[in-house]
This record gives sequence, C-alpha cells and structure tokens, in this order.
Amino acid sequence: MRVLYSGEEIQRRVEELAAELRPLYADRNPLLLGVLKGSFIFLADLARALAIPLEVDFVQLASYGDGTESAGFVRFERDVERPLQGRHVLVVEDIVDTGHTLRFLLSTLASRQTASVRVVSLLEKPSRRCLAVRPDYVGFTIPDLFVVGYGMDLAEGFRHLPDICVLEADDK
Ligand code: 5GP
Ligand code: MG
Repeated sequence: MRVLYSGEEIQRRVEELAAELRPLYADRNPLLLGVLKGSFIFLADLARALAIPLEVDFVQLASYGDGTESAGFVRFERDVERPLQGRHVLVVEDIVDTGHTLRFLLSTLASRQTASVRVVSLLEKPSRRCLAVRPDYVGFTIPDLFVVGYGMDLAEGFRHLPDICVLEADDK
C-alpha cells in the first residue's frame, strides 16, 4: 500500500475547498448531497470545514456491470429524503472517473427545480473520462490508479484508512 495523499494533506485541501465554497453558500442553507458510500468521510470533513448552516442528505447509486467500473447503466438505490425544489444543492462525490455516475445524477437533478447545483469531488481521473461532465470543484486530480481509504473501498474494505492510498499487487 502506497500513500498518495496523507490525512494532513487531505485536511489542508479540504480547508481550501471550504474557503472557496463558503462565500457561495453562506446564508443559503445549502444541501450537501453526498453520493454513498465513498463520499461519507469527505462530506463529514467538508461540512465541518465550511462552518456555515447547512443540511445533509445522501443518494446511493448503483451501476450494472462489474465491480470496479461503472458500465454506463446507473440507477438509484436510495433517493433523497426531501424535495430539492428551491434548494442550493452541492453534490459531494469521492471520485469522478468515467463520468457515468455524475452524468446520471446531474440529469436527474435537472428535473427537480433546484435553485442551483454544483459538484465538488475529492478526486478526478480525467484520463478516463468518456463523457463531457466535470465537477466544478476538485480536491486532487490523479492519474489512472485505483485508490482506497478516506471513505473509498475495495470490496467494502479500507474505507477507514486516514490517507488516500494506492493498492499494490501484494495488498490484501
Ligand atoms: P464513474 O461513473 O465516474 O466511472 O465512477 C465513479 C465511481 O466509481 C466513484 O464515485 C467511485 O465510487 C468509483 N470509483 C472510481 N474510481 C475508483 C477508485 O480508484 N477507487 C475506488 N475505491 N472507487 C472508485
Ligand atoms: Mg462515488
């Protein structure tokens, strides 16, 4: 296991993102919309770093296809609890990879009369993007590596690691 970004580096970047986002959302009671499960730690840190009144909800999406890649067919496993009408929505993602998941979510949100929708993703892998969809705010841009930790998993393992790590051949 190799550390790509340490917990301290992540915290510094989360503070920077929060400083950028705070003026846009102060006094707007934004809805932080986390995409389960991988974003749960990022969302928790970002919500505290923002330090403004906000609400939190989650969606869970599933893609048909093999385990590590979204195949382009995405559906809701869990939708939001409350209507999004009139809300300033900040989608919080862990990784934008091919873009299939984000495109599906954004096209769904487009029909819900939100006041605004922006996307913040902890990571993006632009080399693999096959759709013209981009997060508005990105923590770190990474090469085509499979990462775990800081909420992100391999077969539900490794989510608890404080750092963002790259798995190596002999890791279990
Ligand atoms: P996309 O639909 O953009 O191809 O896939 C996005 C989702 O696939 C991410 O939100 C994440 O849940 C998962 N994913 C993509 N790359 C990685 C990775 O390197 N590590 C982990 N743990 N999940 C990933
Ligand atoms: Mg995700």
